[in-house]
Amino acid sequence: MKFLCIDCDEQMGFGERQLPGDGTLAAVFRCPACGREVAMLTNPMETQVVSSLGIKIGGRTVPEQPLELVRSSLDGGRDEAFAEPPVDSVTSPETSPVEWAETATRRLEAVPSFVRGMVKRIYTDYAKEHGIHEITPEIMDQARTDLGLEGM
Ligand SMILES: [Zn+2]
Repeated sequence: MKFLCIDCDEQMGFGERQLPGDGTLAAVFRCPACGREVAMLTNPMETQVVSSLGIKIGGRTVPEQPLELVRSSLDGGRDEAFAEPPVDSVTSPETSPVEWAETATRRLEAVPSFVRGMVKRIYTDYAKEHGIHEITPEIMDQARTDLGLEGM
């Protein structure tokens, strides 16, 4: 399993991996050229499929990335590497016209914290692209279906 950065035509390197403990698996891949990051989230069933295929995510099957050393020596806390501002402070009228309904925010809080910012961006971008001004759980469902993000 590999991720390519389309802009750079570079193979993305493995960044972070977490198993939140409920069977879901999240992996972050990073483009060594432009720094773009993508996160892969799998639900428990998909995680099992990946495991049964013998695919090692985050093992030494991926060449070591230069930044990996820098990052791990800079901070001991892995979670901090992907820390985002609290959910409430992210949405400001100046930077984003998209509002989050309280119910949607609560649902977002169920997402593992280290990918929450990224997930929030995915939904926010989706809303902007579709001219949606308020994100509700229904919009989240619609976005997941449209974007093929079942299980997130
Ligand atoms: Zn790139």
